Amino acid sequence: MNQARIDHIGIAVQSIEQSLEFYRDAIGLEPKALVIVPGEKVRVAMLPAGEPRIELLEATSDDSPIARFLAKRGEGLHHIAMRVPDLNAAVDRLKAAGSRLVTEQIQTGAEGYRYVFVHPKSAHGVLLELIEES
Ligand code: ZN
Repeated sequence: MNQARIDHIGIAVQSIEQSLEFYRDAIGLEPKALVIVPGEKVRVAMLPAGEPRIELLEATSDDSPIARFLAKRGEGLHHIAMRVPDLNAAVDRLKAAGSRLVTEQIQTGAEGYRYVFVHPKSAHGVLLELIEES
């Protein structure tokens, strides 16, 4: 009933262009999409890497969550995203279990998909993004 699977792994970077010199030129991952997500104040490059993808996240403003992350910890693993069949049901289960979400409401992404972030305190030290299966 709950076939969650990994959609992507998000990596916070200072510069997408610079990080592509590694992930594209050295590792061989070709970016598919380069988008700005105004709600999160980030610029995102999605790199297909088998079925799951690598997501490079660059801040577009100093008060971006990614800017705060970089200031605190530097570049590195930022979140893991899982795709779930029914996001409303997943959020209901999380809330019933007392899990902490980063935002109360389900958000809608630049490409129209729905998502929430589960706080690392509830996800055993990892920021977990849940995306609705589409
Ligand atoms: Zn993500």
